Amino acid sequence: MMHPVNHHPDRRDVLQGGLLLGVAALLAGCSGGGQGRALPGAVWPDDARRTATLPGTKPTVIPSSTGGTPVARGAGALPPGVIPRAAWNSQGMVTGRLTANGQNGRMGAITRITIHHDALDSSSIRSQSDAAYRLNAIRNGQMTRKPEPFADIGYHYIIDPQGRIWEGRSIAYQGAHVRGQNENNLGIMLMGHFDQQRPTSSAIESLDAFVASQMARYGIPLSRVKTHQELASTECPGRNLQRYMAQSRARGGALARA
Ligand SMILES: [Zn+2]
Repeated sequence: MMHPVNHHPDRRDVLQGGLLLGVAALLAGCSGGGQGRALPGAVWPDDARRTATLPGTKPTVIPSSTGGTPVARGAGALPPGVIPRAAWNSQGMVTGRLTANGQNGRMGAITRITIHHDALDSSSIRSQSDAAYRLNAIRNGQMTRKPEPFADIGYHYIIDPQGRIWEGRSIAYQGAHVRGQNENNLGIMLMGHFDQQRPTSSAIESLDAFVASQMARYGIPLSRVKTHQELASTECPGRNLQRYMAQSRARGGALARA
């Protein structure tokens, strides 16, 4: 059986997701969607306070001793400053769709990082709730795509145009972001279409700092920080972000100096 493939949501997927989202939002508060399990993961007190301003969501503090899938201690811990999953979505992943590579989709050691865009214009995203809405639309698009719906949003972390960093799929699990190369691969996506837009300076600053922090956390060398198009035939992450990533990794660039 093939494991999930890893295309970005196309516009139609996302529009469908957006339409579904209206209904899903009405149901999400109490039904939990009926599928999958709650994601494990820490919720940082600062994030709970920050996300308290998000309309339509309730900050959820998940006691570490209850619920979720057991993971190694610390495996699902969120890096400081990352907005937890609970701030934008209360539904878990469809673990039955995690079939990759005979590992039941478990991430194991993280040894590489891949950078993406979502190929969707992000110029209208200004507030935290705008970004949360986009995250749900992307997730819905990926989870309803045919013929191989993803288990959940495919990226582990997402950076919005204001530089906020969001938790996507738990790092306890492989992502769905580079077809056939998701093992041990941390997927980070910048919201935007960077063939048409330039990434904002806020997003770039967050990206450089966050990628550097993850390189340090996992001992990942610069040579294993790639963009999607360096691994597969795709336009992702768009020529403007591709150009920036080349600069950042070149001698004297932000990531090269990290
Ligand atoms: Zn990509």
